Amino acid sequence: MTTTATKWVYRFSEGNAQMRDLLGGKGAGLCEMSRAGLPVPPGFVITTEACRAYSERGGQLPEGLWTSVQEHLGEVEAALGRSFGGDAKPLLISVRSGAKFSMPGMMDTVLNLGLNDETAAALAAETGSERFALDAYRRFIQLFGKVVLHIDGTKFEKLLEAAKETADVHSDAELAAADLRALVARYRDLVVAETGEPFPTDPWVQLERAVRAVFDSWNSRRAIDYRNYNKIPHDLGTAVNIVAMVFGNLGDDSGTGVLFTRNPSTGAREIFGEYLQNAQGEDVVAGTRTPQKIAQLGESMPEVYHQLEGLARQLETHYRDAQDIEFTVERGRLFILQTRSAKRTPAASVRVAVDLAREGMIDEVTALQRVSPDEVSALLLPAFDATARTDAIGAGRLLGRGLNASPGAATGRIIFDADRAAERAAAGEVVILARPETNPDDVHGILIAQGVLTSRGGMTSHAAVVTRGLGKACIVGMEALRIDLDSRTATIDGRTIAEGDEVSLDGTTGEVFLGRIQTVEPDLAANHELFALLGWADGVRTLGVRANADYPRDAAQAREYGAQGIGLCRTEHMFFETERLAHVHEMLVNAPEHARLQAAVEAASDGPAGELARAQEALQGSQAAHRYLAALAKLEDFQRQDFTGILDVMRGYPVVIRLLDMPLHEFLPSHDELLAEVAVLEATGAEPEKRRQQETMLSLVSVLREANPMLGHRGCRLGVTFPEIYEMQVRAIMTAAADLVKQGIDAQPEIMIPLVSHVNELRALKPRLEGVAARTLATAGVDVHYTIGTMIETPRAALTAGDVATEAQFFSFGSNDLTQMTFGYSRDDAEGKFLGEYTERKILPANPFQTMDVDGVGRLIRLATTEGRQARGDLTVGICGEHGGDPATIAFCQAAGLDYVSCSPFRIPVARLAAAQAVLGQRERDR
Ligand code: ADP
Ligand code: MG
Ligand code: MG
Repeated sequence: MTTTATKWVYRFSEGNAQMRDLLGGKGAGLCEMSRAGLPVPPGFVITTEACRAYSERGGQLPEGLWTSVQEHLGEVEAALGRSFGGDAKPLLISVRSGAKFSMPGMMDTVLNLGLNDETAAALAAETGSERFALDAYRRFIQLFGKVVLHIDGTKFEKLLEAAKETADVHSDAELAAADLRALVARYRDLVVAETGEPFPTDPWVQLERAVRAVFDSWNSRRAIDYRNYNKIPHDLGTAVNIVAMVFGNLGDDSGTGVLFTRNPSTGAREIFGEYLQNAQGEDVVAGTRTPQKIAQLGESMPEVYHQLEGLARQLETHYRDAQDIEFTVERGRLFILQTRSAKRTPAASVRVAVDLAREGMIDEVTALQRVSPDEVSALLLPAFDATARTDAIGAGRLLGRGLNASPGAATGRIIFDADRAAERAAAGEVVILARPETNPDDVHGILIAQGVLTSRGGMTSHAAVVTRGLGKACIVGMEALRIDLDSRTATIDGRTIAEGDEVSLDGTTGEVFLGRIQTVEPDLAANHELFALLGWADGVRTLGVRANADYPRDAAQAREYGAQGIGLCRTEHMFFETERLAHVHEMLVNAPEHARLQAAVEAASDGPAGELARAQEALQGSQAAHRYLAALAKLEDFQRQDFTGILDVMRGYPVVIRLLDMPLHEFLPSHDELLAEVAVLEATGAEPEKRRQQETMLSLVSVLREANPMLGHRGCRLGVTFPEIYEMQVRAIMTAAADLVKQGIDAQPEIMIPLVSHVNELRALKPRLEGVAARTLATAGVDVHYTIGTMIETPRAALTAGDVATEAQFFSFGSNDLTQMTFGYSRDDAEGKFLGEYTERKILPANPFQTMDVDGVGRLIRLATTEGRQARGDLTVGICGEHGGDPATIAFCQAAGLDYVSCSPFRIPVARLAAAQAVLGQRERDR
């Protein structure tokens, strides 16, 4: 009986780009390039499966792995005519980690592995440069010491600095062979001091320890946190790439660099990159020397540059995406060491996707999948003005960088304590909260801050998670920032800032500046690539996209961004404007009396004629009733103007107008303040007239005051008790629409009744409102198509949607209230007090006010949609509220079969793309 041994190792000639699961991204790329004939040094890949087997065996190398590694290294030796650990022509290798997804937190690469005193001497003899050999040697001990032996890297840096000082040189490239020999000795002493063991000199031991270190790093804290945050499964494992070394540090005809096939900030089609002469890989990122622009390579080594350019194009065409390429030049010979799809800014992401489609490299559907809705929404955020930013850097105002935890630009006064931040904000200041790190006790400070900065913590720290949820700029893990909470100062690299100083945070890049930097609103309309992409999205999507807009100017904005109508026009604010508020109060003061008399008339209409006549006379004689109706007439004028504006801007598209929804007391002054004022007026005896007025107001406010206004007398409940208010609104809507239609403008009003929980509420209201509409149109002498529908925002309305649909011509899910009532949360309290902790501790997967709770609220939506449509075949179903602009919610709405989503005008571009991606996602699943 034989068992087939698992294949743990792949030659570069055996793998390809599709094998990312088994070989990791870097390994699959090296294989693919090698097979395509690119100049990649020979090497092989240890599979992710080997990593998984190693973890399962509690840190034991799986059987057969080591023999296979030895065989494959033998092949590399043969191919190059070198020997690993040999005393002539020694083979050196790099050991590089590479998981399926590129992941910070994985082990850093070890270069020049295989060096010891003997091989270093052999290398010196072979290259004729002792200096080079010792430079490679000290780099190897430093990297191995840091990433494999976990010795604090700054300890090596300090020794290197000291060596430079002794030699009186500025850069390590100037260190002579003798300096480096002494440094190597000191490095080795450091290793003994730190680990209690000599530096391993056997190359095979070096290799085994490096491979184990790569495997172990898969389960490092940093790697686990990163995977948790990015929802990457923990059981993928990492591959290990073993690559024969090529040397960029062999003199001025050698060097190393990185190249982007497109500009990673703008997306422009141009080679972009950096090059460092006489250097090895890690020098470019380490920032110890300032690299040159890649164009300079074109001057110093035109042939190499030309070849590089050709290879870059070849790789881009091969992968059909912008590439980020690592290369090294060894004595005039070019090697490619890595290629991957280039990281890019949101602006570049859009530009590259659209350009590639136009160049015929990808199709439009692929382009749509290349851009994420988050990238589009980042394009919609205010950003620092580019020249102001450059000027600030020029003026030395860049304090440093941290992790870009939550995008956006923010300027404010830096405050080091949440309580003080809250106080200063209450006093009208704009603040930036800066803390060593944050915890749930700081949430009140985070809520009022313009932006948040921490010196500790990573992308999944409390500050990062909370601010992302709130859509606030945040930078975390700015290690250089030392906050002294006692003296209320902070230092960054020797500079001191005091509490109250102005700072600016760019949460998109992680940059922190001293002082104010001007922000600019993005000029979306000028982004032609984005509009092209959204045009393609419109061709794919089936969900309609409407806007939530209350004012004509918002509606115009929404049209510009491609909204196909208004999904929610709230009428409350129209009541708030100062010249109207007096009429609103007049209406409210007199409404109860009018309602009482009106009810008497209705009761009497069943009884004897005399009684009815008396009741009618009382109603007509009532001052209160007259005032009520007069106030309503005034408000009707205002409302007609409002509706005319918005229906006009949205001509040709439906406009859902929601009738008055807000609890009435919100239009009135605060009860407690009034009480205090009246008490003072009483005590002083001053201004008796004013006192009388305020007393009346106080008694009204007392009457309207509710224990829980959000669940109180609001929405259609108001409409039922004070029907004249809704009637007035419908008259205003229909008059406005009729006027427009007479002018040949296609006005399409849709009247929405809020907060229905029982179909009988609609039965009570609808006939009256239809009567008003019919009379208004008859008077105007035109026909206007309109509908009457309802918001579904109470669980009961959703559960009885079949009944509700017999009366409603459309449904619109008011997902905010529906979420509040389904969870039993009041949003303000929940977000301020405990939701942050809930999502952080994974009690809830996400803030349900931002991403639809599919299992609970979503279930109600599905049920209501299905049963509503069963009762009325042509029922239009949409969603309004913030959820409507959230990509995950949009995917849900697509799956649930809604007709449209409605969101704020600025989210419209995001929603158009997300709606298209929802269709594409569905197609993929169906396949
Ligand atoms: P990272 O994933 O951090 O980019 P890499 O494994 O790509 O790590 O390597 C780090 C640096 O070392 C890169 O600049 C890379 O080009 C360089 N490098 C890796 N392997 C070799 C090699 N065999 N010869 C020369 N340079 C190498
Ligand atoms: Mg790399
Ligand atoms: Mg509501």
